[in-house]
Amino acid sequence: MKVLRLHATGDLRLHDENEPLPDRDECLLRVKAVGLCGSDVHWYEEAGIGDAQLRQPLVLGHEFAGIIESGNQQGQHVAVDPADACRQCRYCEEGNPNLCDNMRFAGHGVVDGALREKLCWPQALVYPLPDETHLPACHSDGAKRHCGRQVAGNPSFSTIRIQSAFETAKKRDGLKVVIEP
Ligand SMILES: [Zn+2]
Ligand SMILES: [Zn+2]
Repeated sequence: MKVLRLHATGDLRLHDENEPLPDRDECLLRVKAVGLCGSDVHWYEEAGIGDAQLRQPLVLGHEFAGIIESGNQQGQHVAVDPADACRQCRYCEEGNPNLCDNMRFAGHGVVDGALREKLCWPQALVYPLPDETHLPACHSDGAKRHCGRQVAGNPSFSTIRIQSAFETAKKRDGLKVVIEP
């Protein structure tokens, strides 16, 4: 399957990698739409964001929707929560998983994100959408409605197209680019 990795500032490369296998609490997703967020643009421009620096080639993209390809929910369209809290630290136990000490966040640090054809993500963090939802359209719509962002077209999945999407997102603050792998 195709996987896009950031190797250094502005250096995105398309790889051919094996499909991931879901763990017991995970589902396999076919990614259908990815939005480029301001934090993705930081990674792209600076090979890091805040304290986090690029340590290994990273798959960006944490705003995404897809279709489940494993288990009994196969075929279900879903929106995905990219923040995977540990559910064990004191913050999680206090009911504040957003402050989790051991957060895994898609497309951040050493946790690969969604700019790839398929990924595995915890079943508990995927949210069913109506079957008739056109996923890229719903993603663009969500971006417009909830983030007040403008939405550009849907560049297809290739290094050049995604590179140019990043360049566009970089130049026009507040622009959201939705990519269809
Ligand atoms: Zn974001
Ligand atoms: Zn936690």
